[in-house]
Amino acid sequence: MKYKDYMTGSLLHRHLGHCARALPSPFIVERPGDSLQCQPTRNVQPTILMTTLMTTHKVAILTGDGIGPEIMKEALKVLALVEQRTGVHFELTESPFGAAAYFDFGHPFPEQTQAVCDAADAILKGPVGLAHAEAMKIPVDLQPERGAVLPLRARYNTYANLRPVSLPKALAHLSPLKAEVIGEGIDILMIRELLGGLYFGKKVLGIDENNLRFAEETLRYDEVQIRQVVKTAFEQAMKRKKVLHNIHKSNILKSSVLWNEVLDEVAVDYPEVTVVNMLVDAAATHLCLNPGQFDVMVMENMFGDILSDQGGGLIGSLGLMPSACVGDGKAYYEPSHGSAPDIAGQNIANPYSMIGSVAMMLEYSFDMADEAKNIWAAMQGVFADGYTTPDLAAGATNDKVIGTDAFGDRVIEKLQAM
Ligand code: NAD
Repeated sequence: MKYKDYMTGSLLHRHLGHCARALPSPFIVERPGDSLQCQPTRNVQPTILMTTLMTTHKVAILTGDGIGPEIMKEALKVLALVEQRTGVHFELTESPFGAAAYFDFGHPFPEQTQAVCDAADAILKGPVGLAHAEAMKIPVDLQPERGAVLPLRARYNTYANLRPVSLPKALAHLSPLKAEVIGEGIDILMIRELLGGLYFGKKVLGIDENNLRFAEETLRYDEVQIRQVVKTAFEQAMKRKKVLHNIHKSNILKSSVLWNEVLDEVAVDYPEVTVVNMLVDAAATHLCLNPGQFDVMVMENMFGDILSDQGGGLIGSLGLMPSACVGDGKAYYEPSHGSAPDIAGQNIANPYSMIGSVAMMLEYSFDMADEAKNIWAAMQGVFADGYTTPDLAAGATNDKVIGTDAFGDRVIEKLQAM
């Protein structure tokens, strides 16, 4: 694994320690010039070296704000182990992004970071953002979501955000729902449209004819935007249970009327998939009362933002929510949650969401589904051994409640045993 420290040097030094820990016997850590390399030295089969020569993936690392550095550190430990196990080489380039980038470089998505992302095969992004009072110190249009996250999504046309909400029956105790409500477990893939609707529509702040301050935002979708995300949803449904819940609000919103029309047109190409149409408000209730009825759900941008956070609540924590942002080209991967400033720097954040985002990157961008499966199994194995992170422990403190770094270490142990 090669780390290029693009501008700040900060992550490079933070990762030096964990890289050495995560790559035990066959690796040493060198720092030739400005870059850090974990080089194989012994016990490495020639075939693996050949594979290393053949396969290199460039990954842009956008660590982000708040708990970003803590959970990214654990994710990169896991990625380092994947490299060791498979011989596939990941060339990592860290670049500033988010509030920290604004304060250091005057923009939350600096041009140099854009260049690094352009050159990468995939992007691994931590959460960005600040607590409300801190965020107010940044001009509105340069605050991290508006100034960095939305432009990142637009730049790579990542129109579909895949958000798994998954809790096996054996881990039902992590959920606030009763075991009988969880039944055989929760395994939902929420698909959120990511480039349209209110978040990308025209926005006006002004003074109206009555001298009142007003804000106006436009919810706009065209048929191409709808078709591409809906098609993604049907494709995912075909790989799973062939049931697609279409979440909409067509009793009020014209955008939902068009959405449903286009979905019906796309459905013709997927006769095996059963479509269940459900109003978004009803869906919020059904998710709590009977989550097992859902498999793949598709919805517009803001509905998906809100219902997927509800999904995090159903399974016990937003810390269990990774995601993949995909389109027709380059994809990026990020936890569904924010930067959690309330718990940053305390080693209590749950890194599952960030490690899970690595698993999704391996599966969707690098065709490494087996390694992804191992990572899911390893993380769930840690929970199955009775360990939890504090967000899932309801205030309990005992030696089974482990911190961010200890969770990462246990995932590594599980993977090494596979
Ligand atoms: P949040 O998602 O950061 O946190 C909500 C709650 O969930 C908090 O109590 C937090 O401690 C907890 N939480 C979140 N992730 C966790 C984890 N991995 N482990 C344990 N607990 C976790 O939402 P917020 O507090 O409303 O927003 C904080 C900042 O994040 C804001 O600036 C917001 O704009 C930003 N944000 C960024 C993104 C993104 O980067 N895509 C997404 C959502 C919010």
